[in-house]
Amino acid sequence: MQGLMMETPLTLTSIFEHAVRYFGRKEIVTQRPEGPPHRYTYAECGRRVRRLARALQQAGIGPGDRVATFAWNTYEHLECYYAIPCLGAVMHTVNIRLHPDQLAFIINDAEDQVIFCDRSVVAALDQLAGRLPTVRLVVLMGPGSVQTCQVAETVDYEAFLASADGEVVWPELDEDSAAAMCYTSGTTGNPKGVVYSHRSSYLHSLTTALVAGDGARETDRYLPVVPMFHANAWGGIYAFMLVGADIVLPDRFLDPQHLLQFLRSERVTVTAGVPSVWTLLLAEMNRTGERLPDLHAILCGGSAAPAALIAGFDQVGLRLYHAWGMTETSPVGTHGSIKSYLRTLPEAEQLALRAKQGFPLPGVELRIVDLATGERCPEDGTTSGEIQVRGPWICRAYYHDEQDADHRFTTDGWLRTGDVGTVDAEGYLEIVDRTKDLVKSGGEWISSVQLENTIMAHPQVLEAAVIGVPHPKWSERPVAVVVPRADAGPALTQAAIQEFVRDQVASWWVPDAVVFVKEIPKTSVGKFDKKRLRTELPLPVLG
Ligand code: AMP
Repeated sequence: MQGLMMETPLTLTSIFEHAVRYFGRKEIVTQRPEGPPHRYTYAECGRRVRRLARALQQAGIGPGDRVATFAWNTYEHLECYYAIPCLGAVMHTVNIRLHPDQLAFIINDAEDQVIFCDRSVVAALDQLAGRLPTVRLVVLMGPGSVQTCQVAETVDYEAFLASADGEVVWPELDEDSAAAMCYTSGTTGNPKGVVYSHRSSYLHSLTTALVAGDGARETDRYLPVVPMFHANAWGGIYAFMLVGADIVLPDRFLDPQHLLQFLRSERVTVTAGVPSVWTLLLAEMNRTGERLPDLHAILCGGSAAPAALIAGFDQVGLRLYHAWGMTETSPVGTHGSIKSYLRTLPEAEQLALRAKQGFPLPGVELRIVDLATGERCPEDGTTSGEIQVRGPWICRAYYHDEQDADHRFTTDGWLRTGDVGTVDAEGYLEIVDRTKDLVKSGGEWISSVQLENTIMAHPQVLEAAVIGVPHPKWSERPVAVVVPRADAGPALTQAAIQEFVRDQVASWWVPDAVVFVKEIPKTSVGKFDKKRLRTELPLPVLG
């Protein structure tokens, strides 16, 4: 028998319309480089979003067209978060920290037609002049005097809004149509596009709102430190606006001094970001003795949150919640809160549990699979295997990769995450390693393979392997293990290698240290054995 309920499509438009209609007086605040923060209401934001969508329509953007953003966390970017997908176009959030070659690759792969770009980062786009044939318009946002971008015809954001002949009439959208896309660093080759649907974004928003910290509330003031170019800023903006919370946006001012001051003055109650940000904030709080009495939840993910960090925040009266996910999982997959009956455990055991990555959100199924046998592992808290997930906001194929070249999707419908972990009897996941060897520095990926290839192009280098080494500030930093060629002279030093790669990769990819060895251990199939490198080599202590 069929159900007799309405088949209302689950779309971001319904999140937007609900938020601006029922919470019209709630506030969105944005830090500005000078002067007081910019403030306006959901209702004003709503009017501007509808005009922006209409202006895009007039510029010839329609269903399925890709429109990029290249921007920090601001109200203009937030307006794009609704105007583009609710129009039926696809919002492609581009990571402003990528190397020009990667930027060119992903913008061309997505075939973006328009780019909304912050004035503060336009120089990074200018470098791509002549390399982005599909881009026909750049819209410049935010304060500053820059009026042109070398990539394409340029228009000012406010002038673009003013050019709209009215407000958009939202199209009826299929809930399975694409809403947004985001590229993730591939383990091999080029970055891979993950395409979120309206339905997946809606369900992810609803569910993250349910679990974020103690659950998102209308009384919250939410500040995402996580950049809006990372997996939809972890979905927090949609989730917190769904419940009518105030939104506080830090623009690009993420250093601990600014952040502490802004969190305090805006009486932020919930914030989200990677461990390296929180490590610095905690140090700043300890240095200054300043406290954040309004803040009740720090959401932390992207890399493992050390137990010492969680305990450090406990001591200054702040609660850190550990979550795990990836671009492919929209991104939140698990969230760590201590179930009520576990709160009687001794402090040390509770801390160990909170340092785990939490248990799956409702809707996400998770299993661990033995890497050698492919069998499902027991959930005993000690047996580790590859984490595989499935659910309504988990990607089932990469954009332009229906054949699944890297075998990331199992034949029975699960995503192979590339992370290795254990699950205990209560369902708490603990990430113990990852099968992929990317280095994650300050929440950003560095491809070890790409860096190795760059170093190995040096005429005096025979082999190079790059591994991530723990770093107190950045979580991990790359260290290169290099075998010099037999004829290499004393000029082949750490500094020489750093200098050599500096021109060819983003500056933050340059390895922190170079260790010279006679030979790199190999696996049975001839790949660098990075496990042995990590355990057998005397690696430098960074930081
Ligand atoms: P990204 O797609 O850039 O968001 O990176 C996803 C990857 O970050 C995951 O596959 C994990 O390897 C890592 N990651 C995310 N959250 C955590 C966490 N809480 N603990 C450990 N690793 C994490």
